[in-house]
Amino acid sequence: MRFEISKVLDAIEGRVCTDPSLARAVVDLAEVIRWQDLDGGRPASLLRLGMVIDALARQMEEDSVPVYAIVHRALLSDADLTSNERMVVRRWADDGLVEVLDNPGDRMLEVADLLGLPVLSRVRFDGLGGRWPWLGQAGRVLAPVPGAGGPVFIAHVGGGQSPATGTRSPVGAKLLARQWRCPEPGCALFGAGGGGGAFADLARVDRAPAGQPPPTLRAGVPTCPRHGARLGDAGPRPRTEVLAVRIGGLVRRRFALTEAQPVLVGRAPDGSNGITLGQWLNDESRRWISRSHVRFELRVGEVVVTDTSTNGSGIRPAGSMAEPDRLTLVPQQSRVLGEGDIVELYPGVQIGRADGLPSGAPFTPTSVMAEAPTMAMRLPRP
Ligand SMILES: [Zn+2]
Repeated sequence: MRFEISKVLDAIEGRVCTDPSLARAVVDLAEVIRWQDLDGGRPASLLRLGMVIDALARQMEEDSVPVYAIVHRALLSDADLTSNERMVVRRWADDGLVEVLDNPGDRMLEVADLLGLPVLSRVRFDGLGGRWPWLGQAGRVLAPVPGAGGPVFIAHVGGGQSPATGTRSPVGAKLLARQWRCPEPGCALFGAGGGGGAFADLARVDRAPAGQPPPTLRAGVPTCPRHGARLGDAGPRPRTEVLAVRIGGLVRRRFALTEAQPVLVGRAPDGSNGITLGQWLNDESRRWISRSHVRFELRVGEVVVTDTSTNGSGIRPAGSMAEPDRLTLVPQQSRVLGEGDIVELYPGVQIGRADGLPSGAPFTPTSVMAEAPTMAMRLPRP
């Protein structure tokens, strides 16, 4: 039983992040864990975050939709959570996956404003529409409530039942064009800080620049929301391109590609930075797709794809799913991915820019590959 819960919490851990290009909604974790009516269980439960994330995935018809969680520091010692749950939240805080704050105030709304994200909350935010005008827009604030097959969303503010993503506010766009450094050593959100700590925690520094959360503004000054310290400007933020993996019509996950690091995608690529597709593949596609099948790189703003497989890949040029238009990508061949082009590792296993790869299949929690139509393979024989 305990083991099972640990597994669920591990799965939830993969769906919390403060990365502006990947997070899809903002939640206040202290609020979510106390929605007792969702499961009729304990006064507080971290599993409710998982229920809300699942509801978001169903609504967006997409797997793996991460949420940006704001966490009041008191939660780290909340006696209504199990010691295991508290330990998990502490780990998320240490890894910068969630934002732990002494006083969250309206940080949730600030993040939603800066990133253009919907807010999942039962709070009505009365009187805040002047400061955050988008609060009145449909789908920007949705309250998760109990439904037949798990939580569903209802509108508390502004109408609408589907989460709506807006655009980053002008201030958000400005803040997210730069990378920031917190002077506090070991800051999980804004790098390792100055002094001797600069290289002490290389993994964290390495991870931070492109996926850094937005600073909070205090009297117009970019500030670390965790430490309240004024942030230093550490230069332009690395360019990021968000790609998505679509299998059998359903977007399974998104990933951010930066100029700093190529990303390998395949059945089970080596290295921590790889995108593993194995769990979503059927027997045929698993046999066809190599452990590391394609490599993506961002070079001067261009997405370059290189086939690293045994069997090769295909490219579906922008706007065409017609078989005759499918281009082959032989093993070791590279190609610049045009706007709207889709790389196909195997029929129905596709990767492209997230905004050009809509998720069209009805949501099914198990692999949809079994239902994928059989298409003629037109890939080269090595
Ligand atoms: Zn900090």
